[in-house]
Amino acid sequence: MQRSAIIHKTAADLPVPPNLADYAATCADFSWDAARAELAGLPGGGLNIAHEAVERHVQGPLRDRTAFRFLGEASVRDLSFGELSQLTSRFANVLQTLGVRRGERVFVLTGRIPELYIAVLGGLKAGCVVSPLFSAFGPEPIATRLNIGEGAVLVTTDLLYERKVAKLRDRLPTLRHVLLVGDDNEGDEGGSEHAVTDIAGTHDLATLMAQAADHFDTAATQPEDLALLHFTSGTTGTPKGAMHVHGAVVTHWATGRYALDLHPDDVFWCTADPGWVTGTSYGIIAPLLHGVTSIVDVAEFDAERWYRILQQQRVTIWYTAPTAIRMLMKAGPELARGFSFPRLRFVASVGEPLNPEAVWWGQEVLGKPIHDNWWQTETGGIMIANLPALDIKPGSMGRPLPGVQAAIVRQREGGGVEVVDAPDEEGELALRRGWPSMLRGYLNNEERYRKCFAGDWYLTGDLARRDADGYYWFVGRSDDVIKSAGHLIGPFEVESALMEHPAVAEAGVIGKPDDMVGEVVKAFVSLKQGVEPSEALRKELLGHARKKLGAAVAPKEIDFLPVLPRTRSGKIMRRLLKARELGLPEGDTSTLEAGA
Ligand code: ATP
Ligand code: MG
Repeated sequence: MQRSAIIHKTAADLPVPPNLADYAATCADFSWDAARAELAGLPGGGLNIAHEAVERHVQGPLRDRTAFRFLGEASVRDLSFGELSQLTSRFANVLQTLGVRRGERVFVLTGRIPELYIAVLGGLKAGCVVSPLFSAFGPEPIATRLNIGEGAVLVTTDLLYERKVAKLRDRLPTLRHVLLVGDDNEGDEGGSEHAVTDIAGTHDLATLMAQAADHFDTAATQPEDLALLHFTSGTTGTPKGAMHVHGAVVTHWATGRYALDLHPDDVFWCTADPGWVTGTSYGIIAPLLHGVTSIVDVAEFDAERWYRILQQQRVTIWYTAPTAIRMLMKAGPELARGFSFPRLRFVASVGEPLNPEAVWWGQEVLGKPIHDNWWQTETGGIMIANLPALDIKPGSMGRPLPGVQAAIVRQREGGGVEVVDAPDEEGELALRRGWPSMLRGYLNNEERYRKCFAGDWYLTGDLARRDADGYYWFVGRSDDVIKSAGHLIGPFEVESALMEHPAVAEAGVIGKPDDMVGEVVKAFVSLKQGVEPSEALRKELLGHARKKLGAAVAPKEIDFLPVLPRTRSGKIMRRLLKARELGLPEGDTSTLEAGA
């Protein structure tokens, strides 16, 4: 296939008319107040995420539509909007019976089983503040998060409890109730009605659910009431707990509409775990807001399984991450050829820079290019995106969503920041404060929160540039940018160039301190299946990079690694590559993926 700098698209080429066909007109007409008016609001006033996601649908024709389809290892379980309403009401009643009050914190630590989704939405319905944790966390990261989030309730499985929490229980002073889900059927049935054998100091969730009424009047929360706590990925340091409010639902709705182009008859698959913000904002909330059926796979990544899910479940919109795409690329094109995806109409990715190579891989293997989008735990929802009806410039994150004002800013001497208006200038990516899902604070870290703002601007900590067409290009995290012989080098550019070489599956680039030039560029590379590291290949890659990037930017050193250290949400941990290279302490590794 001929690869060009731009993948041209128009609304007329798309199989379904997009929700956003004219970017300028939609942005000009958009207001957050108008978006809010598309939602129902609570009967007596106020706003609650669970009401918008579930309750308001069940009076109408959506009641019997599948909200979630849970794919176990060997079986499938569907939950309709109507069932979800009843089950979340039961859960809210369970909390009330236990004396859990509005505003108290409910943590959920399970695999992607129905109880997770029920507890998140039921907790919100009850007016509690919910924090889903990734179930692969070890005991210490769980305890730290429960303590700084002041968890009053923990929903988990009997196995996870016994392995990870029971021993630490006396170090969790705020935790009053532990609700256990039986593990017997996890994975197969996607949850269990089995009673948990008596475990001291815990309740059996299924028993309490069975005793609870299936109606609950949603708590009368206000838009500024806290709803969700999400911990950042820990890519650059200790994870921060970002606090989000019920008003964030307006962003979830608008971005589900414009950035993911959700239509009522879509089958949507967000591959992220709800332990990360993507898996909650888009794995739970946004599709429900639009009355869309979501696929949930209880299993972990497996290339063949994922292709099969896309095909068999007739997924129409797929939201995944660069790391998954790179793993599919690594598995080779032959595997993909055994499947076809005629229903797939839109593919998007978030979490890390998406190398142009990966955008094209989508076009060639899935039949659809991959649409990169950018956001953070702190922003609560998608802020910058490649939209279905707009041209893609592979390597770019796209353009700000309607209602989002982005800018490139620089520190001003004497304090504050100034906006850089000229195109193609590098600086810090900033967002004008005030979008509904902006974080309202970091848990226990007011000072760090305050540092996120300069006047009207929220500072993202990412470096980027904007081109003359208004597309944003990621340069690197400010912590990762390399200063070499007077140049500022973004690792993404170097990694993308390396990935264009057919032997390379993944690359992570760091600056290594050097007396002469400040830092030299060093790359760590993992190779595609079937390719062996060798001295000759190292030389070839160094030459390839020099040809693409020029001598000033190309890496001077390349090491081969079987896999790169990654966070559990799939981000390359450059700080760890650097610490290991320099023999320094590794710092907080609570989110590091096992085996890396
Ligand atoms: P921590 O803040 O703890 O270091 P983190 O920043 O990785 O972790 P997240 O909030 O999960 O935690 O990730 C947001 C960050 O991920 C962004 O600030 C950005 O650096 C990166 N990111 C997300 N999407 C993209 C994208 N499309 N292109 C480039 N980078 C992205
Ligand atoms: Mg961050």
